[in-house]
Amino acid sequence: MKLARVAKKGNRSFYIEFMMMTLVPLILCGIVMIIVSSMSIRKSMKAEVSDNLRNVAASVLSAYDMTYPGEWEVHSEGDNVVLYKGGTPVSYAYDFLDGISKESSLQISIFYMDTRLLTTLRSASDERLVMTVASEKIVDDVYRGVSSAFYDNVTIEAVDYYAYYAPIMAQDGSGCIGMIGVAKPADSLMESINSSAGRSIIVMLLGILITSFFIIRFANTLVMIVKRMLEFMKALAANRLDAKLDPGVAQREDELGEMGRNLNSLQISLRRLIERDVLTGLYNRRSAEKRLDDIEKSGVKYCASIGDIDHFKIFNDSFGHECGDVVLKEVAQLLNQGMSGREGFVARWGGEEFLLIFVNVGIQEAYDALMLIRQSLHDKEVEYNGQIHKVTMTFGVAQQEDGIPINHLIRNADEKLYAGKEGGRDRVIM
Ligand code: GH3
Ligand code: MG
Ligand code: MG
Repeated sequence: MKLARVAKKGNRSFYIEFMMMTLVPLILCGIVMIIVSSMSIRKSMKAEVSDNLRNVAASVLSAYDMTYPGEWEVHSEGDNVVLYKGGTPVSYAYDFLDGISKESSLQISIFYMDTRLLTTLRSASDERLVMTVASEKIVDDVYRGVSSAFYDNVTIEAVDYYAYYAPIMAQDGSGCIGMIGVAKPADSLMESINSSAGRSIIVMLLGILITSFFIIRFANTLVMIVKRMLEFMKALAANRLDAKLDPGVAQREDELGEMGRNLNSLQISLRRLIERDVLTGLYNRRSAEKRLDDIEKSGVKYCASIGDIDHFKIFNDSFGHECGDVVLKEVAQLLNQGMSGREGFVARWGGEEFLLIFVNVGIQEAYDALMLIRQSLHDKEVEYNGQIHKVTMTFGVAQQEDGIPINHLIRNADEKLYAGKEGGRDRVIM
């Protein structure tokens, strides 16, 4: 059950999961921020407009009070209904109201009860909208309710306005005699709301875009590194031990770099375990055969030699297997030294048998090198448990010939080795 879950998880893309965990919340958060900030910009601008309209309404009323002290009154003069303030017919004096309207881009109306008697609002045919009435709701709220109110959806002559209405009170305390209305065209406010919301939306989108760019870049790098490590591990698992991990991974200074370096060490350990003989550290027979294959395929000329320790059974029987092991290690080291600086390799071919391959070398040169090795072993004193031991080796060497398979060549070297044994050991036969 647990394994099945792990296996299923392995099929999911780390990249997609990473994106889901980072980009999706970022984008959702951005959308919420854009909505919330647009709403709050709208709200605060509406509050600002409402304040502005209220101030204008108050200052218009106080300006009338100061200029024309006294009551608001209405008189019918023929067909006309004329509005008076402090005994002055203000219906004919528009300069003051038009001035404020022009300066503030606001429309101002003064109502007697529910009827506009003084207004800067004009119809499509440029007539002042006098003698028109306010909507039933506004009359109810402001005139009858004697309370000021702000509306964001007042339509006058097919134009939408944000409007503030306040009751006008009689100075003798007899109650509400009319209203003042100050209106701002909705489209002009929408324009400024849209432009300031637009600005903050652009800033937020830019922020989201830049953050997304870095997240995607980081995720791509991360995924690329994980993929490289995965490919490398797959190669190792498939026994391709000469696979190489991208050096860029191990060079990183973070945890991924550490993982890469550990993978490289793991590869070295694995190669050692698989290719090398545990006792001597030389190539084992299996990897020697693979190397021989490669050499044969490359078409270079080479010589093969088999060396065997003389009377090693008796040695083991006389001094013990452990002492024999120490000797095997010393012999391996000596063979390695003998081959150093030469093209080719040494391998442990069997128990106390070694294979030596000399690449790009003729039989005579291989023979001479083996003679030196044989002599140095002959002279070597191996110390074990305070005692000095000496062993010798016999070698058979043969040169590769065109068309002769490698196993024949080795059999040939083996036969020469036997001849050497027959001939008295501690010698090289070619
Ligand atoms: P010859 O000179 O004819 O080669 O005689 P020999 O005694 O060396 O030949 P033989 O093949 O009969 O004996 C090989 C011995 O090598 C037998 C075995 O005990 C010993 N040997 C093989 N592998 C190891 C090893 O890993 N450790 C030790 N200590 N001895 C080993
Ligand atoms: Mg042997
Ligand atoms: Mg032997």
